Amino acid sequence: MPGLCGVFCFVGRMRLVLYWDTLPGNGMDYEITSSHILYLTFPMEAVVLELVKTKHELRQLLKAVRSEGKSVGLVPTMGYLHEGHLSLIRKARQDNDCVVVSIFVNPTQFGEGEDYNTYPRDLERDMESCRGLGVDIVFAPEADEMYAKGSCTFVDMERLTDRLCGASRPGHFRGVMTVVSKLFNLVRPDRAYFGQKDAQQVLVIKTMVRDLDFDIQIEELPIVREADGLALSSRNTYLSPEEREAALVLSRSLFEAKKRIEDGERNAELIRSGIVDKISSQPLAHIDYAEVVDAETLEPLREIKNGVLIALAVRIGRTRLIDNIKMEV
Ligand code: AMP
Repeated sequence: MPGLCGVFCFVGRMRLVLYWDTLPGNGMDYEITSSHILYLTFPMEAVVLELVKTKHELRQLLKAVRSEGKSVGLVPTMGYLHEGHLSLIRKARQDNDCVVVSIFVNPTQFGEGEDYNTYPRDLERDMESCRGLGVDIVFAPEADEMYAKGSCTFVDMERLTDRLCGASRPGHFRGVMTVVSKLFNLVRPDRAYFGQKDAQQVLVIKTMVRDLDFDIQIEELPIVREADGLALSSRNTYLSPEEREAALVLSRSLFEAKKRIEDGERNAELIRSGIVDKISSQPLAHIDYAEVVDAETLEPLREIKNGVLIALAVRIGRTRLIDNIKMEV
């Protein structure tokens, strides 16, 4: 009887079936007879997580996925995954046949003197989190793989990127848009997932997708917070216990502002100054910006109406944290 040895696998959801029948004369140093039938079947669909370090391998894998007519969801991250990231991944898992998570600390979005070198990294732990959520592919290239030697093409935007984080981190959004465009071109996802935590970033990405005709649906998910209100961030790991306590001033000032607006306050400057006063009363906190702006244009508001975004960037010690709240009035 001819030998039979089968491994059936698909990128994405995978069923692994190993089946040995008689394998006479197969060159192995032990003998398998017909009475040794190894039959290894995973009746549940098991997901195999691929760690991909090169653009070429990523493209090859995704070509196979797309040829089967499968949908693809992309979650771009800088890694050191926490529940905020995981909420995006869970949604991507629900919506798509194949989920790609990119983990890349993108040098072009960090300014001089910022924390590119010290940004927390733990690929092994991130792989475990992704495995647990049934991610199909983690794309984690090195910087010199992502950016070809001599790279000199960038994606940029006017107006929206002049404000908030764009004003306090010059060049930041150019780096973000460039790397996200590259990821969109490499993965060609049907959907891509971003958090409201980076409210200006998701607005910039939605605008870029519209303006450059990327055929990708952008999904925006709410901010995930600790029980005491602190927005989850990979940078929270920089905080000492005392700073961690001080950092609560961001969310608390936002929640207070929200309450005042719900109670009828419509004067944007009063809301803004209330936030500034509260944050200034915390000695470890230094305001980078605190703005009450139109949620679509990011223009500062006089009167609170329609969609409003209250956005903060505050340094707690040496750690720059951002947080925001969006409201429809
Ligand atoms: P990062 O790794 O910081 O670049 O973030 C990757 C994605 O996760 C971005 O779309 C962020 O907006 C999102 N994200 C980060 N923190 C949170 C959070 N606390 N809640 C929801 N999404 C988040």
